[in-house]
Amino acid sequence: MTQPSHRLCPVCGVAFFAGEPVLQCSGCHAVHHPACWIEIDGCATAGDCEGQPLPRTFGGVPPPPSWLF
Ligand SMILES: [Zn+2]
Ligand SMILES: [Zn+2]
Repeated sequence: MTQPSHRLCPVCGVAFFAGEPVLQCSGCHAVHHPACWIEIDGCATAGDCEGQPLPRTFGGVPPPPSWLF
């Protein structure tokens, strides 16, 4: 069990799939859908957390070059 239990988006509750582009909070390392991060304008734990969004790909697959907005 080396993987933290952040497999569900804390905003919409939908599970991520391998290779999906996500935004990981630099503060708490929670993973969000990019659209969900934008929808709530920050980390789902905003208030306690002021982390910045880090573009990641769930499952460690390199992101495609054109996913970012
Ligand atoms: Zn979501
Ligand atoms: Zn955070």
